[in-house]
Amino acid sequence: MTNCIFCKIAARQIPSKTVYEDEDLIAFHDINPAAPVHLLIVPKQHIDTLADCDERHAALLGKMMLLAPKLAQDQGCGYTSNGDGAAGKGGFKTLFNTGPDGGQEVYHLHLHVIGGPRPWRGMR
Ligand code: AMP
Ligand code: ZN
Repeated sequence: MTNCIFCKIAARQIPSKTVYEDEDLIAFHDINPAAPVHLLIVPKQHIDTLADCDERHAALLGKMMLLAPKLAQDQGCGYTSNGDGAAGKGGFKTLFNTGPDGGQEVYHLHLHVIGGPRPWRGMR
């Protein structure tokens, strides 16, 4: 995708504040953070939206989801469980926006990881 901003970030053609990279994924700080920590986990492969995924993308999506708590922990907004069914401490939001009504602005699949001390800008 020649004109896709996240493809360009993944190819290191435009800069980002990268916090993680492997053969499948890159993760970087959102340029317009909604909270003290706001990361985007992005597959290097171009996929427009979550709605374009199927069974072939299950492992990739699982990898994205499992990376979220690790990066949140690295960024100081991890969740500490009580392990007893009650709320622990800290935590973060994980979010895929899909399509115009889902609030998607960049049509390259990405998972938002949003956390840190509240309040957050315009977001519950
Ligand atoms: P969405 O509305 O889910 O498509 O989110 C797109 C996100 O990408 C927004 O939160 C933007 O602030 C963020 N964004 C757009 N361009 C860049 C960029 N060059 N580097 C980092 N984040 C970006
Ligand atoms: Zn792309």
